[in-house]
Amino acid sequence: MNEMVDDGKKKRSLALHWQILIGMLAGLLFGWLAVVMGGQQLTIDWIKPFGTIFIRLLKMIAIPLIVASLIKGVSDLQDLSRLSSMGFRTIGLYLMTTVIAVVIGLLIVNLFQPGRSVSDETRAGLLAAIPGDQGVADDSVDAATSEKLGKIRAQASRQKSNGPLQPLVDMVPDNVFAASSNNGSMLQVIFFAIFFGVGLILVDSTKATPVKAVFDGLNEVILKLIDLIMLAAPVGVFALLATLVVESPGVDILMALVQYGLCVVVGLAVMMFGVYPAIVWLLTGRSIRFFFQGILPAQLLAFSTSSSAATLPVTMERVEEHLGVQPEVSSFVLPIGATVNMDGTSLYQSVAAVFIAQVLGIDLSLQQQLTIVMTASLASIGSAAVPGAGMVMLVIVLEAIQVPSAGLALIFAIDRPLDMCRTAVNVTGDATVAMAVANSVGRLDEPSVKNWDDNYSPDEDGLRE
Ligand code: ASP
Repeated sequence: MNEMVDDGKKKRSLALHWQILIGMLAGLLFGWLAVVMGGQQLTIDWIKPFGTIFIRLLKMIAIPLIVASLIKGVSDLQDLSRLSSMGFRTIGLYLMTTVIAVVIGLLIVNLFQPGRSVSDETRAGLLAAIPGDQGVADDSVDAATSEKLGKIRAQASRQKSNGPLQPLVDMVPDNVFAASSNNGSMLQVIFFAIFFGVGLILVDSTKATPVKAVFDGLNEVILKLIDLIMLAAPVGVFALLATLVVESPGVDILMALVQYGLCVVVGLAVMMFGVYPAIVWLLTGRSIRFFFQGILPAQLLAFSTSSSAATLPVTMERVEEHLGVQPEVSSFVLPIGATVNMDGTSLYQSVAAVFIAQVLGIDLSLQQQLTIVMTASLASIGSAAVPGAGMVMLVIVLEAIQVPSAGLALIFAIDRPLDMCRTAVNVTGDATVAMAVANSVGRLDEPSVKNWDDNYSPDEDGLRE
């Protein structure tokens, strides 16, 4: 995995996140020039398709990604009895922090309502730009817009009128192949993948090993595909932003985006500087300073790679040597955490889903918000620990609450910086749970390296392979 991320980096003189930022700025500038010089149609004809292709690529990879990464993740547990004492605590704490993160995200986005600042005119323009079932919007924007709005609202109210256990029923597929060919049923695919992973653990190892090898290999290939798709991100972002500016009747969407970004960052800060230090202090008695001094290099690496998986070797080294967690705990808790525990991602998904609904003028019921708690938790569990994966899985949350997934285009522009921040939170969450579990099973020592003398150097410390 490291090699994979590194490979991509070595060939590039400029880090991907800078390229994406440049793509964003260039797209904004291009869009603005197009508006000033009357090049709107040119942008729509020749630039917009590249943004659409980029979003399609992301959506295309979502189902294979869920299947491969979940089956691999669950079957890596190897033995269901290992889900005993340590396993249950790990999973329990991971779920608890994930749900806390989603709830914090929902509280913040409902309080600040970043998507409400968009004017009705901009909203109508955005809705017109979202392709309907039949394809692209026609010329009679007003009629088309109100028709789409009607369709979206009808879907939303159908969702509201369902019984309270409907989301549970909807999770179970009656035909897994139909579920994977139908965009509305990704949760069913998740259900099947987890179930399949459990079956894989339970069958005889001579039978399970070749099957598991297939999914391990498939997982690697899919991660590589995501890497390749992310190489196109600067161009995709350029096209999306240029189109956004050209198609938006007002600049207030950009202001709304900034407010949305702030909501995500505030939520992530509450997790990072409030929830985790509180858990560490309450469950292990270690100080906030001790915790942050120990984990900081892993956080910085997570921030710059946007990948929990790439950061894992450093996370393990810091947690064992600088936070005092014994290897038998860290080697169990952290690899699972890197793929399963993504508090930053789940928080971001909840804020993003509500923001998109707000911008599109869709009111979410309490039941839909509860669906977000469940789907964002599951979607973050199913997200691969690589750049951009959280946004791919956001499709699940949007579809579960009947919000058009094309709304993703709205938030893509600022996804990368938010990905960097949420990955740092994801890694911090894993370290927090590792400390808590280690302490609860008597495996938390004094660290072998004193943090306050510490000048981090990967060469000195030696990175784990
Ligand atoms: N980049 C994140 C991680 O690796 C996942 C995501 O939210 O996209 O943890």
